Amino acid sequence: MNLILLGPPGAGKGTQAKRLEARFGLKQLSTGDMLRAAVAAGSPVGQRAKEYMDAGKLVPDDVVIGAVDERIEQPDCKAGVIFDGFPRTVPQAEALDSMLGRKGRRLDAVVELKVDSSALVDRVRKRAEETRASGGQVRADDTPETMETRLRVYHEQTSPLIAYYAKRGILKAVDGMATIDKVSEAIEAALPLPKQGRNPA
Ligand code: AMP
Repeated sequence: MNLILLGPPGAGKGTQAKRLEARFGLKQLSTGDMLRAAVAAGSPVGQRAKEYMDAGKLVPDDVVIGAVDERIEQPDCKAGVIFDGFPRTVPQAEALDSMLGRKGRRLDAVVELKVDSSALVDRVRKRAEETRASGGQVRADDTPETMETRLRVYHEQTSPLIAYYAKRGILKAVDGMATIDKVSEAIEAALPLPKQGRNPA
């Protein structure tokens, strides 16, 4: 099964992707994590991506599409992928369609996490505080200023994907304001799982 978690920054895509990964043996593919690793490694992709990421803007489509195309070929992606933070533009969605088609795979579901924009800046502030408290490194783009840009970019460039997938009949909307457990339950209920896949863990 291949699915997309769609939603603005701070909607809980990463948290829910990790839960789905553990529960169903799928692989979380977070383009944000991949790009942060590339920046940390100082690779050519990282060098190209850094300035966009620091500004809260989208990294050019060709960079991200190339990285995803390579990544989904890896053996750990064979059982299925949870795309987290990808696609983020219509050209990326079109590229995903053609890359999955070429590989004889398909997209089974797109789950939109619906959240109030007013809650997002607060959620991201909390994420930074919790990371700091646990001695971790706070993301360079988890600041209120960058968050504003990231939200604007989401509305302008990513939200058109809601209509793109709704037209295909594979979009499911879930209330992302509920508790983490409730959101997980709602996502699971929205997935086209075989009956035995729904048994409690
Ligand atoms: P995220 O961790 O998903 O919030 O992503 C962090 C940053 O990485 C974003 O603000 C973008 O600069 C970049 N990024 C992640 N995924 C993509 C993507 N699919 N397309 C373009 N830029 C991306």
